[in-house]
Amino acid sequence: MILGLFLYSLSLLCQIFSAGYAISLCFRANSYRLACGFLAIGLTLMVGRRIAPLAQALSDVRINVVDAWLSVPISLFLLLGMFQFKKLLIDMEDRNFMLDQFSKKDSLTGAMSRTETFSRINLDIKKSFRSKKPIAFLMADIDHFKNVNDVYGHPIGDQVLIDLVKRCQEDLREIDIFGRVGGEEFLIVLPELGKAGAGEVAERLRKHIAGKPCINVEGKDIFITISIGIAIYDPHKDHQLDANLVLKKYFTLCDQAMYRAKTAGRNQISE
Ligand code: GH3
Ligand code: MG
Ligand code: MG
Repeated sequence: MILGLFLYSLSLLCQIFSAGYAISLCFRANSYRLACGFLAIGLTLMVGRRIAPLAQALSDVRINVVDAWLSVPISLFLLLGMFQFKKLLIDMEDRNFMLDQFSKKDSLTGAMSRTETFSRINLDIKKSFRSKKPIAFLMADIDHFKNVNDVYGHPIGDQVLIDLVKRCQEDLREIDIFGRVGGEEFLIVLPELGKAGAGEVAERLRKHIAGKPCINVEGKDIFITISIGIAIYDPHKDHQLDANLVLKKYFTLCDQAMYRAKTAGRNQISE
């Protein structure tokens, strides 16, 4: 009887831990909550089933020895399985989170990735279909950036890019979009801003970048300048109702404006 009690208690303990793991997973694994919930319910009910033979063993001297012995490996393997399942699920959630971050952010500069930039702009365009408020598209490109790489090397060029992104982000609002859409090309989208507002922001960015050195290399300050092209999407004037087409059109327009700024002498803004 003592052996039976011991075996059933051991198996009960394993099942309580298994159910505990499953319940804790319900709070941890956001994307798999339903599956973990079913598992938690099943395992908790099984704890009840383990209590029954234990109670029987307490009240009845004759116990089913085979069942008592079998209950231990069954519960033990369940516990080990749950332990591994918990590890796997947490690992998967962490990987999903990292992949999500990776696809949303540019790994070098921390600016928004190209894909995330376009998907966020798409949403803003759809919003402006309803609100009828304009959206300013700005394309910023570093002037003669190749020279920076040629003179100081690629790693220094990378540092320059990181600093540029940091400084531009300081100057923008929470709702603005700042994405790296090319090597040293950045698309800035300013919701609810028209020509005047966009011009002010562009000038502020241009001055901020040109006015202070990006980094200091062996006692020498490195300065860069940027050229910015502006295109304003106004839902009152442009009645296109396909967000993707609007995005394509204004991306091209601000890019063309940026090239005009380059041709006009760089370190300037063009519309
Ligand atoms: P422009 O004024 O006409 O824009 O001249 P530019 O030299 O900036 O333009 P160009 O397109 O000729 O060169 C862009 C350079 O940007 C070339 C490439 O080596 C550099 N570049 C692109 N991506 C990166 C990057 O991630 N890190 C570094 N360090 N350089 C990059
Ligand atoms: Mg350039
Ligand atoms: Mg370029």
